[in-house]
Amino acid sequence: MKQAAVIGAGTMGNGIAHVFAQYGWSVTLIDVSQQVLDKARSTIQANLDRQAKKGAIPSDAAPQILGRIQTSTSLDAAAPANFLVEAATENPTLKFSLFETLDRICASDVILASNTSSISITEIAARTNRPENVIGMHFMNPVPMMQLVEVIRGHSTSDETTTTVLEMSKALGKTPVEVRDFPGFVANRILMPMINEAIYAVMEGVASPESIDTVMKLGMAHPLGPLALADFIGLDVCLAILEVMHKGLGDPKYRPCPLLRRMVAAGDLGRKTGRGFFNY
Ligand code: NAD
Repeated sequence: MKQAAVIGAGTMGNGIAHVFAQYGWSVTLIDVSQQVLDKARSTIQANLDRQAKKGAIPSDAAPQILGRIQTSTSLDAAAPANFLVEAATENPTLKFSLFETLDRICASDVILASNTSSISITEIAARTNRPENVIGMHFMNPVPMMQLVEVIRGHSTSDETTTTVLEMSKALGKTPVEVRDFPGFVANRILMPMINEAIYAVMEGVASPESIDTVMKLGMAHPLGPLALADFIGLDVCLAILEVMHKGLGDPKYRPCPLLRRMVAAGDLGRKTGRGFFNY
């Protein structure tokens, strides 16, 4: 029986639940907010309809896939799961306490994966009695569309857990890449300094946000410019990741741009608030 639990039903959690259900898993999607769970269901429904229209899934598959997803506001609902992915808010204190609780709720042989973008898997794992079964499974947004999963080995993650998660990622139609537990892993270690540099270029008046994004799209063949991408990710999320890398790697080259700090303080967080480097 393939029974997964996904903790957190926001941007990433709904996409992760979608993909597991699409590939035959029964999924329990858990969030503290019933409203978020209801919204996640309608998002998944809309995304499945879009996939069906494009022929990515059979035209009659959507109801069956959605039928495999249950929702709950209680972490206890994760108890029957034989695989768990945590995609709750990016906050170390929250994740540490979640893993302490999930360690008590889930059977001891169950793998507990975290979708964290930047928090140390080693530190998360150390909060449990099964550090060998804790691993990073870093899906990209939007999860149903994006091919990559960064699979992050913590200091104590076992070979067996790593192999299981690499194989499982492939079985979910993804391409996994194994990386070590360093701040930012690979994706954000390289992406965030580029975004940060683009923000410095705006701050210093090198060019307008439109021009900077055009240079990177037409000159480097990036599908999205760094500033539009930052708006999509959320400027608060970008700032949080840069802070983790700055602190964890100790190199001033990761210093978050003051303009980024100011925009986050002003509440201009990108798409989700309607305003960032661009208006939405
Ligand atoms: P989000 O804010 O959209 O969703 C987080 C959800 O977690 C919220 O719905 C919140 O109610 C829920 N939550 C908070 N505390 C909880 C608890 N105790 N139990 C259950 N649910 C709880 O955030 P997101 O963008 O989906 O990010 C989730 C994780 O995925 C983070 O670790 C983030 O770093 C990572 N991530 C995000 C992206 C991205 O582009 N947004 C990409 C890769 C990884």
